[in-house]
Amino acid sequence: MANNIYLDYAAATPLDPKVKDAMEPYWSEDFYNPSATYLAGRRIRKALEQARQDVASVLSVRPAEIIFTAGATEANNLAIQGLMRSYQDGEVLVSATEHDSVLAPASLFTHRRIPVDRYGQVILNKLSNLISDRTILISVIFVNNETGTVSPLRDLAKIAQEIRRTRLSQKNMLPLFFHTDAAQAPNYFDLNVHKLGVDLMSLNGSKIYGPKQSGALYINRTIRLKPLILGGGQESGRRSGTENMAAIVGFAKALTLAKDRRKVQKYHVSNLRDQMANGFSQFVPSAIINGHPTEHAPHILSVTFPGFDNERLMMELDEAGIQCAVGSACSAAKDEASHVLATMGLAESAIRSSLRFSFGKNTTPKDIKVTLARLRTLTGK
Ligand code: PLP
Repeated sequence: MANNIYLDYAAATPLDPKVKDAMEPYWSEDFYNPSATYLAGRRIRKALEQARQDVASVLSVRPAEIIFTAGATEANNLAIQGLMRSYQDGEVLVSATEHDSVLAPASLFTHRRIPVDRYGQVILNKLSNLISDRTILISVIFVNNETGTVSPLRDLAKIAQEIRRTRLSQKNMLPLFFHTDAAQAPNYFDLNVHKLGVDLMSLNGSKIYGPKQSGALYINRTIRLKPLILGGGQESGRRSGTENMAAIVGFAKALTLAKDRRKVQKYHVSNLRDQMANGFSQFVPSAIINGHPTEHAPHILSVTFPGFDNERLMMELDEAGIQCAVGSACSAAKDEASHVLATMGLAESAIRSSLRFSFGKNTTPKDIKVTLARLRTLTGK
């Protein structure tokens, strides 16, 4: 569409041309199986290990600590199920605003939800109180995909560290691991896992201008996982199946580019988000912005338009060539009211009046201006 204004980068990003170029050979002349032992196979194996090295270097970890997966859903499942299956009496704590791909696997085990405040941030002392002698895993999202609220990962990691010390002194030998779903983070935040203090991290290619169904799980080398997919023993036995070389190479390229472009991209989308937020206070003063006022990602803006049906607004914007989201893509598909906004205390009517706008590298100030003007017309009484 000629006048298409795409404001749903938190759902999907277009493939970067450099990523596409990097992927191309693996669909054609470099089709070989990386497990093949002849020369061509060994060449592909080398590319696979180079991709692993590239991903590891963005996270400041060892290559052996990276497992390639088909996206963040699989990485989250591998982290939670892969760990918890070894501790049948253990318990997992998840923040109440997690993505369904964390909530659903956690619900297979004894689990509790960590409450969040009205901005969607986990309440630190509530977490401390929830951790029991049986807690094995804590999972807290890095950047919330619906509101953009950023979790205080370092503070959470300190709490986990303190509990580990206490356990040791009490001769409780159960481990306590800290996982984060970082699917929305790489374009804008440092992923150094040592600085963040996490033991496991899920990543995804499709939010960073990489291919869909690509991603990885970082797992600290001291942790043993039970694989979910059994077979030929690829990925050091942790994820069997012939490697999807194009997706892996594309993901590694996208992640490297995300790191290299982080500063510029952060500046670019922060300005757009500010422009839109300021525009609302000027032109649509009834609009309410959800999420944390300062600890938020630069690319996501969740807004409530009191009295207006979000499905209808979204469709009217769509007719005008403007694409945005009603909550997350998953809850929209199921026509469920967002559990994220509900747990932050929004009434069902407010949730049903909320839209998510998310920005990316091709969004322009003019796109924001046009969208604001259209929303002003649509919400004008
Ligand atoms: N976690 C978060 C925070 C997300 O935003 C998404 C995608 O919407 C996922 C997990 C799932 O990622 P994938 O589609 O790669 O499985």
